[in-house]
Amino acid sequence: MNKFVEKRNELLAKKTIKGLESRNMSGYYAQDREEALKIALSLIPEGSTATMGGGVSVHEIGLPKALKEGNYTFIDRDEYEDKRAAALTAYDADVFLASCNAITDDGILVNIDGNSNRVSAIAFGPKKVIFIVGMNKVCGDVDHAMKRARNVAATTNAQRFGLSTPCAKTGACLNCKSPDTICCQFLITRFSRHTGRIHVILVNDNLGF
Ligand code: SF4
Repeated sequence: MNKFVEKRNELLAKKTIKGLESRNMSGYYAQDREEALKIALSLIPEGSTATMGGGVSVHEIGLPKALKEGNYTFIDRDEYEDKRAAALTAYDADVFLASCNAITDDGILVNIDGNSNRVSAIAFGPKKVIFIVGMNKVCGDVDHAMKRARNVAATTNAQRFGLSTPCAKTGACLNCKSPDTICCQFLITRFSRHTGRIHVILVNDNLGF
């Protein structure tokens, strides 16, 4: 990565981590995907039950694979026929893994969901939530973060899942109410009441979308 981009990412991550701490959440900065994986594993005690709800960035650092190979119980919903049953396990898991659609540089997390299992588990249930977030997701304010979540994350997910939505055809959000919309629930996480529950690992890389 270009050294000037690296410097910018480092400075921006510092500001974002300060913002997270002011909201009773913990922030970390990883120089690369390998370091992000190490930090994530250091936050998950052996023997823990972990699961996730989507999250391309989580896969990109190899975290589910490491948990499956290690001394953990990783609940992989892709291996369950009953997706609802798999999603419900998240509420009592020790650890929930997620990415976020956008984060402001003062530590507010923005997530959009269609099924809403992901945003509901982020809000309540699992004892610990660990976010893996590329520096490409950091935005200047909530307005920008919402725009990113809709026009970048949701539109790309619409492509990924082959949905019949206006954004899948145009590449931009048209604020639809189509039956296939993935923009059903918007979660803005501005503070964590529970100390030690939410951890955000910022990664000096472009992860997810
Ligand atoms: S509201 Fe509709 S058009 Fe906009 S991003 Fe969501 S699914 Fe796409």
